[in-house]
Amino acid sequence: MAKPILMLAEQVRGQLSDISFEMLGLGRRLADALGAPLSALVLGSEGAPLAARLGLADKALTAEDPRLNMAPPGTMADALRQVIEKEQAGLVLIGATNVCMGVGSILSARTGLPFVNNVRQAQAEEGAVRLTSQMYGGKILADVRLGGACGIAGIYPGAFPADAGRSDKAPPVEAAGVTVTAPKETFERYIEPETGDVDITKEKVLVAVGRGIQTQDNVGMAEELAAALGGAVCASRPVIDQGWLPLSRQVGKSGMNVKPRLYLALGISGAPEHWEGMQGSQCIIAVNTDAKAPIFDGAHYGIVGDALEFIPLLTDRLKARRG
Ligand SMILES: Cc1cc2nc3c(=O)[nH]c(=O)nc-3n(C[C@H](O)[C@H](O)[C@H](O)COP(=O)(O)OP(=O)(O)OC[C@H]3O[C@@H](n4cnc5c(N)ncnc54)[C@H](O)[C@@H]3O)c2cc1C
Repeated sequence: MAKPILMLAEQVRGQLSDISFEMLGLGRRLADALGAPLSALVLGSEGAPLAARLGLADKALTAEDPRLNMAPPGTMADALRQVIEKEQAGLVLIGATNVCMGVGSILSARTGLPFVNNVRQAQAEEGAVRLTSQMYGGKILADVRLGGACGIAGIYPGAFPADAGRSDKAPPVEAAGVTVTAPKETFERYIEPETGDVDITKEKVLVAVGRGIQTQDNVGMAEELAAALGGAVCASRPVIDQGWLPLSRQVGKSGMNVKPRLYLALGISGAPEHWEGMQGSQCIIAVNTDAKAPIFDGAHYGIVGDALEFIPLLTDRLKARRG
Protein backbone atom coordinates (compact mmCIF):
# COMPACT_ATOMS: atom_id res chain seq x y z
CA MET A 1 0.00 0.00 0.00
CA ALA A 2 1.27 3.51 -0.81
CA LYS A 3 2.03 5.93 2.01
CA PRO A 4 -0.89 8.09 3.29
CA ILE A 5 -1.80 11.27 1.42
CA LEU A 6 -2.14 14.46 3.46
CA MET A 7 -3.90 17.59 2.24
CA LEU A 8 -3.82 20.97 3.95
CA ALA A 9 -7.29 22.52 3.89
CA GLU A 10 -7.23 26.29 3.58
CA GLN A 11 -9.40 28.62 5.58
CA VAL A 12 -9.67 32.35 5.33
CA ARG A 13 -11.54 34.08 8.16
CA GLY A 14 -13.34 30.93 9.23
CA GLN A 15 -14.43 29.82 5.73
CA LEU A 16 -12.96 26.92 3.78
CA SER A 17 -11.70 28.17 0.41
CA ASP A 18 -12.61 26.44 -2.87
CA ILE A 19 -9.02 25.19 -3.17
CA SER A 20 -9.66 22.95 -0.14
CA PHE A 21 -12.39 21.08 -2.02
CA GLU A 22 -10.36 21.06 -5.25
CA MET A 23 -7.52 19.34 -3.38
CA LEU A 24 -9.87 17.04 -1.50
CA GLY A 25 -11.43 15.76 -4.74
CA LEU A 26 -7.98 15.29 -6.25
CA GLY A 27 -6.64 13.68 -3.08
CA ARG A 28 -9.55 11.21 -3.01
CA ARG A 29 -8.96 10.24 -6.65
CA LEU A 30 -5.24 9.69 -6.11
CA ALA A 31 -5.78 7.88 -2.79
CA ASP A 32 -8.25 5.46 -4.41
CA ALA A 33 -5.94 4.84 -7.37
CA LEU A 34 -2.90 4.26 -5.13
CA GLY A 35 -4.77 2.35 -2.43
CA ALA A 36 -3.63 4.91 0.16
CA PRO A 37 -5.56 6.55 3.02
CA LEU A 38 -6.33 10.28 2.75
CA SER A 39 -6.11 12.71 5.68
CA ALA A 40 -7.12 16.37 5.69
CA LEU A 41 -5.52 18.87 8.06
CA VAL A 42 -7.12 22.12 9.24
CA LEU A 43 -4.85 24.64 10.98
CA GLY A 44 -6.12 27.41 13.27
CA SER A 45 -8.85 28.03 15.82
CA GLU A 46 -12.41 26.81 15.16
CA GLY A 47 -10.99 23.98 13.05
CA ALA A 48 -13.41 21.24 14.16
CA PRO A 49 -16.58 22.51 12.38
CA LEU A 50 -14.51 23.08 9.22
CA ALA A 51 -12.93 19.64 9.45
CA ALA A 52 -16.43 18.13 9.66
CA ARG A 53 -17.08 19.39 6.12
CA LEU A 54 -14.17 17.42 4.65
CA GLY A 55 -16.13 14.19 4.35
CA LEU A 56 -14.18 12.72 1.44
CA ALA A 57 -11.12 12.34 3.66
CA ASP A 58 -10.70 9.10 5.61
CA LYS A 59 -9.97 11.28 8.61
CA ALA A 60 -9.58 14.97 9.39
CA LEU A 61 -6.98 16.40 11.75
CA THR A 62 -7.13 19.72 13.54
CA ALA A 63 -4.51 21.91 15.17
CA GLU A 64 -6.63 24.45 17.02
CA ASP A 65 -4.19 27.16 18.00
CA PRO A 66 -4.89 30.84 17.27
CA ARG A 67 -1.21 31.29 16.33
CA LEU A 68 -1.97 29.13 13.28
CA ASN A 69 -4.61 31.59 11.99
CA MET A 70 -3.09 33.21 8.89
CA ALA A 71 0.27 32.01 10.22
CA PRO A 72 3.55 32.87 8.49
CA PRO A 73 4.89 30.18 6.11
CA GLY A 74 7.59 28.91 8.49
CA THR A 75 5.04 28.27 11.26
CA MET A 76 2.63 26.51 8.88
CA ALA A 77 5.47 24.42 7.45
CA ASP A 78 6.56 23.39 10.94
CA ALA A 79 3.03 22.28 11.87
CA LEU A 80 2.78 20.33 8.60
CA ARG A 81 6.17 18.71 9.14
CA GLN A 82 5.03 17.35 12.51
CA VAL A 83 1.85 15.90 11.00
CA ILE A 84 3.77 14.38 8.05
CA GLU A 85 6.09 12.64 10.52
CA LYS A 86 3.25 11.38 12.75
CA GLU A 87 1.11 10.18 9.85
CA GLN A 88 4.07 8.89 7.81
CA ALA A 89 2.54 10.78 4.88
CA GLY A 90 4.04 10.38 1.41
CA LEU A 91 2.21 12.82 -0.84
CA VAL A 92 1.31 16.23 0.61
CA LEU A 93 -1.13 18.55 -1.16
CA ILE A 94 -1.08 22.28 -0.43
CA GLY A 95 -2.60 25.21 -2.35
CA ALA A 96 -0.42 27.21 -4.74
CA THR A 97 -2.16 30.23 -3.24
CA ASN A 98 -1.32 33.42 -1.38
CA VAL A 99 -2.26 31.72 1.88
CA CYS A 100 0.35 28.99 1.37
CA MET A 101 2.95 31.06 -0.46
CA GLY A 102 6.38 30.01 0.78
CA VAL A 103 5.10 26.96 2.72
CA GLY A 104 6.07 24.37 0.07
CA SER A 105 9.67 25.45 -0.29
CA ILE A 106 10.27 25.71 3.49
CA LEU A 107 8.57 22.34 4.04
CA SER A 108 10.68 20.79 1.30
CA ALA A 109 13.88 22.09 2.92
CA ARG A 110 12.80 20.78 6.35
CA THR A 111 11.60 17.34 5.25
CA GLY A 112 13.77 16.61 2.22
CA LEU A 113 10.61 15.91 0.18
CA PRO A 114 10.67 17.25 -3.41
CA PHE A 115 8.33 20.19 -4.07
CA VAL A 116 6.42 20.57 -7.35
CA ASN A 117 4.48 23.83 -7.56
CA ASN A 118 1.60 25.10 -9.72
CA VAL A 119 0.29 21.60 -10.45
CA ARG A 120 -2.44 21.59 -13.09
CA GLN A 121 -2.79 17.83 -13.69
CA ALA A 122 -2.10 14.77 -11.58
CA GLN A 123 -2.33 11.02 -12.26
CA ALA A 124 -1.43 7.98 -10.21
CA GLU A 125 0.65 5.44 -12.12
CA GLU A 126 2.13 2.21 -10.79
CA GLY A 127 2.74 3.41 -7.25
CA ALA A 128 4.02 6.80 -8.42
CA VAL A 129 2.33 10.13 -9.18
CA ARG A 130 2.77 12.05 -12.41
CA LEU A 131 2.24 15.80 -12.08
CA THR A 132 2.05 18.52 -14.71
CA SER A 133 3.43 21.77 -13.38
CA GLN A 134 2.92 25.17 -14.96
CA MET A 135 6.04 27.33 -15.15
CA TYR A 136 6.81 30.87 -16.33
CA GLY A 137 3.18 31.97 -16.26
CA GLY A 138 2.09 29.05 -18.45
CA LYS A 139 4.80 29.32 -21.14
CA ILE A 140 6.20 25.93 -20.11
CA LEU A 141 4.46 22.83 -18.78
CA ALA A 142 6.76 20.38 -16.99
CA ASP A 143 5.90 16.71 -16.50
CA VAL A 144 7.26 15.47 -13.18
CA ARG A 145 7.14 11.93 -11.76
CA LEU A 146 7.17 11.51 -7.97
CA GLY A 147 8.58 8.03 -7.37
CA GLY A 148 6.88 6.18 -4.50
CA ALA A 149 4.19 8.91 -4.63
CA CYS A 150 6.26 10.94 -2.14
CA GLY A 151 6.57 14.71 -2.38
CA ILE A 152 4.82 18.04 -1.91
CA ALA A 153 2.45 19.24 -4.63
CA GLY A 154 1.33 22.88 -4.77
CA ILE A 155 -2.08 22.71 -6.46
CA TYR A 156 -2.92 25.51 -8.88
CA PRO A 157 -6.27 27.10 -7.90
CA GLY A 158 -9.03 26.31 -10.38
CA ALA A 159 -7.17 23.43 -12.05
CA PHE A 160 -9.35 20.72 -10.45
CA PRO A 161 -13.13 20.78 -9.89
CA ALA A 162 -14.18 21.86 -6.39
CA ASP A 163 -17.46 19.93 -6.67
CA ALA A 164 -15.51 16.65 -6.80
CA GLY A 165 -14.38 17.39 -3.23
CA ARG A 166 -17.75 18.23 -1.68
CA SER A 167 -19.77 15.67 0.25
CA ASP A 168 -22.55 15.52 2.87
CA LYS A 169 -20.58 13.01 4.95
CA ALA A 170 -18.48 14.00 7.95
CA PRO A 171 -15.10 12.34 8.50
CA PRO A 172 -13.77 11.20 11.88
CA VAL A 173 -12.02 14.25 13.37
CA GLU A 174 -8.91 13.98 15.59
CA ALA A 175 -6.54 16.48 17.18
CA ALA A 176 -3.25 16.43 15.28
CA GLY A 177 -1.20 17.07 18.43
CA VAL A 178 0.95 19.81 16.91
CA THR A 179 3.33 21.89 19.02
CA VAL A 180 3.32 25.44 17.72
CA THR A 181 6.60 27.29 17.71
CA ALA A 182 6.17 31.00 18.50
CA PRO A 183 6.08 32.70 15.08
CA LYS A 184 8.66 35.42 14.47
CA GLU A 185 6.07 37.39 12.49
CA THR A 186 2.47 37.78 13.64
CA PHE A 187 -0.63 38.37 11.57
CA GLU A 188 -2.14 41.73 12.50
CA ARG A 189 -5.20 42.33 10.35
CA TYR A 190 -6.89 41.33 7.16
CA ILE A 191 -7.17 44.11 4.58
CA GLU A 192 -10.04 43.60 2.11
CA PRO A 193 -8.93 44.19 -1.48
CA GLU A 194 -10.83 47.02 -3.12
CA THR A 195 -13.29 45.35 -5.42
CA GLY A 196 -14.79 48.63 -6.58
CA ASP A 197 -18.36 48.57 -7.84
CA VAL A 198 -18.32 44.95 -9.00
CA ASP A 199 -16.35 41.89 -8.00
CA ILE A 200 -15.39 40.32 -11.34
CA THR A 201 -14.52 37.02 -9.65
CA LYS A 202 -18.23 36.55 -8.88
CA GLU A 203 -19.67 37.51 -12.29
CA LYS A 204 -21.16 34.77 -14.50
CA VAL A 205 -20.59 36.73 -17.72
CA LEU A 206 -17.49 38.82 -18.42
CA VAL A 207 -16.85 41.02 -21.44
CA ALA A 208 -13.07 41.41 -21.48
CA VAL A 209 -11.39 44.14 -23.50
CA GLY A 210 -7.77 44.29 -24.55
CA ARG A 211 -5.50 46.72 -26.35
CA GLY A 212 -7.52 46.00 -29.49
CA ILE A 213 -10.34 48.15 -28.05
CA GLN A 214 -8.11 51.07 -29.03
CA THR A 215 -9.69 54.01 -27.14
CA GLN A 216 -11.30 54.72 -23.79
CA ASP A 217 -14.54 55.70 -25.54
CA ASN A 218 -14.79 52.20 -26.98
CA VAL A 219 -14.75 50.73 -23.46
CA GLY A 220 -18.20 52.33 -23.04
CA MET A 221 -19.37 50.25 -26.01
CA ALA A 222 -18.18 47.09 -24.24
CA GLU A 223 -20.00 48.18 -21.09
CA GLU A 224 -23.22 48.42 -23.06
CA LEU A 225 -22.68 44.89 -24.37
CA ALA A 226 -21.94 43.61 -20.85
CA ALA A 227 -25.17 45.20 -19.59
CA ALA A 228 -27.13 43.54 -22.42
CA LEU A 229 -25.59 40.18 -21.45
CA GLY A 230 -26.19 40.73 -17.72
CA GLY A 231 -22.47 40.74 -16.95
CA ALA A 232 -19.56 43.09 -16.30
CA VAL A 233 -16.54 44.46 -18.15
CA CYS A 234 -13.00 43.42 -17.28
CA ALA A 235 -9.72 43.94 -19.12
CA SER A 236 -6.19 42.93 -19.93
CA ARG A 237 -3.33 44.83 -18.35
CA PRO A 238 -2.67 47.44 -21.07
CA VAL A 239 -6.24 48.73 -20.69
CA ILE A 240 -5.78 49.06 -16.92
CA ASP A 241 -2.34 50.63 -17.34
CA GLN A 242 -3.95 53.29 -19.55
CA GLY A 243 -6.33 54.06 -16.66
CA TRP A 244 -9.39 53.22 -18.76
CA LEU A 245 -10.71 50.84 -16.08
CA PRO A 246 -9.77 50.40 -12.38
CA LEU A 247 -7.25 47.79 -11.26
CA SER A 248 -10.09 45.75 -9.70
CA ARG A 249 -11.12 44.85 -13.29
CA GLN A 250 -7.74 43.42 -14.37
CA VAL A 251 -7.65 39.72 -15.23
CA GLY A 252 -4.41 37.76 -15.16
CA LYS A 253 -1.23 37.03 -13.32
CA SER A 254 -1.11 40.40 -11.59
CA GLY A 255 -4.89 40.79 -11.53
CA MET A 256 -7.89 38.63 -10.72
CA ASN A 257 -8.43 34.95 -11.35
CA VAL A 258 -11.90 34.56 -12.89
CA LYS A 259 -14.04 31.54 -13.77
CA PRO A 260 -17.24 32.88 -15.36
CA ARG A 261 -19.63 30.79 -17.43
CA LEU A 262 -18.88 33.05 -20.42
CA TYR A 263 -15.68 34.99 -21.11
CA LEU A 264 -15.87 37.15 -24.19
CA ALA A 265 -12.31 38.21 -25.07
CA LEU A 266 -12.35 41.24 -27.37
CA GLY A 267 -9.07 42.43 -28.89
CA ILE A 268 -6.97 40.38 -26.46
CA SER A 269 -3.94 38.54 -27.84
CA GLY A 270 -3.95 35.76 -25.19
CA ALA A 271 -0.55 36.33 -23.57
CA PRO A 272 0.26 33.67 -20.90
CA GLU A 273 -0.04 36.28 -18.13
CA HIS A 274 -3.61 37.03 -19.21
CA TRP A 275 -4.49 33.42 -19.95
CA GLU A 276 -3.44 32.46 -16.42
CA GLY A 277 -6.30 34.48 -14.96
CA MET A 278 -9.17 33.34 -17.20
CA GLN A 279 -8.38 29.82 -18.38
CA GLY A 280 -10.86 28.37 -15.87
CA SER A 281 -13.79 30.06 -17.72
CA GLN A 282 -16.44 27.57 -18.84
CA CYS A 283 -16.82 29.05 -22.31
CA ILE A 284 -14.29 31.39 -23.93
CA ILE A 285 -15.23 33.26 -27.10
CA ALA A 286 -12.45 35.34 -28.68
CA VAL A 287 -12.75 38.08 -31.26
CA ASN A 288 -9.49 39.17 -32.83
CA THR A 289 -8.45 40.60 -36.21
CA ASP A 290 -5.34 38.38 -36.22
CA ALA A 291 -6.17 34.75 -37.08
CA LYS A 292 -2.83 33.71 -35.55
CA ALA A 293 -3.47 35.36 -32.16
CA PRO A 294 -2.63 32.84 -29.38
CA ILE A 295 -6.03 33.37 -27.75
CA PHE A 296 -7.52 31.19 -30.50
CA ASP A 297 -5.38 28.25 -29.34
CA GLY A 298 -7.39 27.98 -26.14
CA ALA A 299 -10.74 29.63 -26.88
CA HIS A 300 -13.79 27.39 -27.35
CA TYR A 301 -15.08 29.62 -30.15
CA GLY A 302 -13.20 32.18 -32.21
CA ILE A 303 -14.21 34.97 -34.55
CA VAL A 304 -11.56 36.49 -36.81
CA GLY A 305 -12.87 40.00 -37.12
CA ASP A 306 -12.99 43.54 -35.85
CA ALA A 307 -14.23 43.79 -32.26
CA LEU A 308 -15.32 47.35 -32.90
CA GLU A 309 -17.81 46.08 -35.50
CA PHE A 310 -18.76 42.97 -33.51
CA ILE A 311 -19.61 44.74 -30.21
CA PRO A 312 -22.42 47.06 -31.44
CA LEU A 313 -23.77 44.35 -33.71
CA LEU A 314 -24.14 41.85 -30.87
CA THR A 315 -25.49 44.51 -28.48
CA ASP A 316 -28.18 45.51 -30.99
CA ARG A 317 -29.14 41.86 -31.62
CA LEU A 318 -29.42 41.19 -27.88
CA LYS A 319 -31.51 44.30 -27.32
CA ALA A 320 -33.76 43.46 -30.27
CA ARG A 321 -34.26 39.91 -28.96
CA ARG A 322 -35.16 41.19 -25.50
CA GLY A 323 -37.42 43.86 -26.97
C1 LIG B 1 4.98 39.91 -14.67
C2 LIG B 1 3.90 40.23 -15.66
C3 LIG B 1 2.59 40.22 -15.20
C4 LIG B 1 1.57 40.49 -16.11
N1 LIG B 1 0.28 40.46 -15.66
C5 LIG B 1 -0.70 40.59 -16.55
C6 LIG B 1 -2.07 40.47 -16.13
O1 LIG B 1 -2.38 40.28 -14.97
N2 LIG B 1 -3.02 40.59 -17.08
C7 LIG B 1 -2.74 40.82 -18.39
O2 LIG B 1 -3.68 40.91 -19.20
N3 LIG B 1 -1.48 40.97 -18.81
C8 LIG B 1 -0.46 40.88 -17.91
N4 LIG B 1 0.81 41.04 -18.33
C9 LIG B 1 1.05 41.56 -19.70
C10 LIG B 1 0.96 40.49 -20.76
O3 LIG B 1 2.25 39.94 -20.97
C11 LIG B 1 0.50 41.07 -22.12
O4 LIG B 1 1.36 42.13 -22.48
C12 LIG B 1 -0.93 41.59 -22.11
O5 LIG B 1 -1.81 40.59 -21.61
C13 LIG B 1 -1.36 41.94 -23.54
O6 LIG B 1 -2.62 42.53 -23.48
P1 LIG B 1 -3.54 42.56 -24.79
O7 LIG B 1 -3.81 41.18 -25.24
O8 LIG B 1 -4.71 43.43 -24.46
O9 LIG B 1 -2.63 43.38 -25.81
P2 LIG B 1 -1.83 42.89 -27.09
O10 LIG B 1 -0.95 41.76 -26.78
O11 LIG B 1 -1.23 44.11 -27.69
O12 LIG B 1 -2.98 42.34 -28.06
C14 LIG B 1 -3.96 43.13 -28.65
C15 LIG B 1 -4.73 42.20 -29.57
O13 LIG B 1 -5.81 42.92 -30.13
C16 LIG B 1 -5.96 42.51 -31.48
N5 LIG B 1 -6.70 43.59 -32.14
C17 LIG B 1 -6.25 44.82 -32.50
N6 LIG B 1 -7.26 45.55 -33.01
C18 LIG B 1 -8.38 44.76 -32.96
C19 LIG B 1 -9.74 44.95 -33.31
N7 LIG B 1 -10.19 46.10 -33.82
N8 LIG B 1 -10.60 43.92 -33.13
C20 LIG B 1 -10.19 42.74 -32.63
N9 LIG B 1 -8.91 42.51 -32.28
C21 LIG B 1 -8.02 43.52 -32.41
C22 LIG B 1 -4.56 42.29 -31.99
O14 LIG B 1 -4.54 41.41 -33.09
C23 LIG B 1 -3.91 41.67 -30.75
O15 LIG B 1 -4.00 40.25 -30.77
C24 LIG B 1 1.87 40.78 -17.48
C25 LIG B 1 3.18 40.80 -17.88
C26 LIG B 1 4.18 40.51 -17.00
C27 LIG B 1 5.61 40.50 -17.48
